[in-house]
Amino acid sequence: MSQPSPKYKRIVLKLSGEALREPGSRDNISPQIVHSIAAQIAEIHALGVEIALVVGGGNIWRGQSASQRGMDRATADYMGMLATVMNGLALQSELEALNVPTRVQTAIEMKNVAESFIRRRAMRHLELGRVVIFVAGTGNPFFSTDTTAALRASEMGAEVILKATKVDGVYDSDPKKNPDAKRYETLTFSEALTKRLQVMDATAFSLCMDNKVPIIVFDMMKRENIRDAVLGKSVGTVVSGE
Ligand code: UDP
Repeated sequence: MSQPSPKYKRIVLKLSGEALREPGSRDNISPQIVHSIAAQIAEIHALGVEIALVVGGGNIWRGQSASQRGMDRATADYMGMLATVMNGLALQSELEALNVPTRVQTAIEMKNVAESFIRRRAMRHLELGRVVIFVAGTGNPFFSTDTTAALRASEMGAEVILKATKVDGVYDSDPKKNPDAKRYETLTFSEALTKRLQVMDATAFSLCMDNKVPIIVFDMMKRENIRDAVLGKSVGTVVSGE
């Protein structure tokens, strides 16, 4: 049987830190879950898609919530960026166990652990079929890993950001509070803005809008979703256009 052909040649997959945690568990990183995510990434890698991963750190540490409890924000944010490095290494290890070649690139220099982020080198890795895992966010406090995904997607020329979350798309109201909440299948950037829909934080959102990088928001718990999104099947909510 012939292989299905992917809609996108180069993608950024944004995984929140919480994606790596077993719900309800005290462990921040579940090796089983990381393995399952790695297997899903291996599947799209086998289709020939060039994949850059941006991983969050919210399963370990969130700068903003620590600062709300009195810690200096910039310090707390640097700690958050370090948390993303742990998650990235976990993903690298499981991907390599599945024979997927990877490189971790960090925005905060850490020579013994990972390559430093160098755009042209990252592009080369992608061309050679290596999954590039971007860690340490943007390297700057006061930003998020969603903004990192928007930034890296823009500079790497990715065609789309796949944002794997806990909800299966963007709704007109909170589906946890309103049983009649309606999910959008598609949205334009300006619709999302005028309707004040939360797709990503404002910085990340405006970077995607300015650079015309579509975002697909989808539920990471459904195993086939990453593959279906890459194949262009209807998954979650697609935000694109003007
Ligand atoms: N962070 C930062 N600058 C960045 C990216 C992340 O300071 O460019 C810090 C910030 O404190 C954030 C933490 O790293 O709370 C973890 O990232 P994020 O909250 O985006 O992770 P996610 O919610 O995706 O797990």
